[in-house]
This record gives sequence, C-alpha cells and structure tokens, in this order.
Amino acid sequence: MKINVSKIPEGGMNLRFEKDGAWFRGFLPETEPFDCTLRRIEIVCTVRRMKENVFIEGSVTASAEAPCCRCLEAARFPLAASFKYTFSPAPDEPQDEMELNTEDLELAYYEEDMIDLDRLIYEQIMLQIPIKPLCAEACKGLCPQCGTNLNVATCACEAEPFDERLSVLKQFKVKPKTQ
Ligand SMILES: [Zn+2]
Ligand SMILES: [Zn+2]
Repeated sequence: MKINVSKIPEGGMNLRFEKDGAWFRGFLPETEPFDCTLRRIEIVCTVRRMKENVFIEGSVTASAEAPCCRCLEAARFPLAASFKYTFSPAPDEPQDEMELNTEDLELAYYEEDMIDLDRLIYEQIMLQIPIKPLCAEACKGLCPQCGTNLNVATCACEAEPFDERLSVLKQFKVKPKTQ
C-alpha cells in the first residue's frame, strides 16, 4: 500500500486492508532463516495531513505460527502492534541537526509525494515476533535424553545427566509395572 500525499483528503482518511504471508515473505532476504508463518495480516489506520506533514496512526494484527523453542511443535500465537508515525518530506540536503522532541512519535521521511506503508507495517510485525516462541508458557519441552515430548508423554529417563556407563544397567532395572 502506497499513499500519495497529495491525494490525502482534507479531513484525512481511514484505511483498512489485509495482507497475506507471501506478502510478508517478500520483504525477507531469501537467505534469511525464518520459520515463522504469518496469516491474516490486518491493518487499520488513519492518515491525516497538515501542510506537508503526514500523520499515520493505526494498528496491525496477524496470526503467527512458529516452532516452539522447547518442544518444536507448531506454536500459534497472535501478533498485535500499534504504531504512530509522522512523515515529512525528505530534506534536499542531509541535516546535521534534527530536533527530536517527541518520544513516542516515529519520525520518517517521504520522497516524491509517496509514503510506502508496506515497509512500515513489515517492520512493525518484525518487532512483535518473539525470538523464542512458546506453544504454552508451561511447555515442558523435550526430554534431553530420549527426545520424548514431555507435554504429551512421560519417559523413563532420570533427570540426572546422562551417563553412558549406566545406560546398560538401566535396561535391566527399568521395567514397566504390571499388575
Ligand atoms: Zn512447546
Ligand atoms: Zn526421556
């Protein structure tokens, strides 16, 4: 979605649009390992203009899926971010001094009357993707010895560091209880 600054109406405008996972992927370098899948990316925002400055305020939501960092099962989680940007025309010459007196307003430039909203939304989503996704806060993960998913099963491994020399003995010791 690109916004033509000169076409923003006097009273501002509301935008609502959707993007899919393929759109998001298009921003990522092909070499980047990225195993998070996004669906239903929804953007709602208001665009207002005051002289040559453009204010964009809105939110983005999406559903994401990535392997849980503990058990490797698919973890699904919602993503949500709200954003606020002020766009000004790019200065002809790079400026040494920039007056940044607003803390929560992101300042950005636009060129040739066009604002690229897609890039901005991509960045907002990236910031929300957890570095270590979890299927659940209480995920028990995999047994470091036998790889059993401890959320769905228990294993006979002991919580001690694995010792090769004992593994032979265990085969005799551990027997399923029969009644
Ligand atoms: Zn998990
Ligand atoms: Zn185990």
